[in-house]
Amino acid sequence: MSIDTAPDTSTDVHAIVDEQLRRTRQRYTLGRRQLVELLQSSDRPVTIPELLEHGAVQSQSSLYRNLAILEQCGAVHRIASTDDVARYELTEELSEHHHHVVCAICGRIDDVVLAPAIERALAEAAQEAKDQRDFDVDSHRLELVGTCASCS
Ligand SMILES: [Zn+2]
Ligand SMILES: [Zn+2]
Repeated sequence: MSIDTAPDTSTDVHAIVDEQLRRTRQRYTLGRRQLVELLQSSDRPVTIPELLEHGAVQSQSSLYRNLAILEQCGAVHRIASTDDVARYELTEELSEHHHHVVCAICGRIDDVVLAPAIERALAEAAQEAKDQRDFDVDSHRLELVGTCASCS
């Protein structure tokens, strides 16, 4: 085994999405595959106009429908922002665990990966929720709201 060869994660992503779509009796069409690739290449959640701008070759109505289907099958996560414009990203099953910084002025969202010590503290928060409310935490999301570089 060569250590120089990184695992081909993009093939894995497409195989998982294909399986997720099959489970909801949908097909992995070229348009959906292209959306998954566009979302995969972005380092932040993107809006529909941004997807069209970055080369999504499909009508706006197909784009909405394809995103809704990808959301339904668990491949894509829709995020509301401070500007009421929805943004989309691949779910963590297809990407990696991360959090978001949200601009209160323009609504831009960027991904942030937090240090392991902070993730451990968040896991402890889940245990506290369990102790206080007998609530089983499955996952967590952290949104840090503030001002982005271009708005400050
Ligand atoms: Zn901003
Ligand atoms: Zn986390």
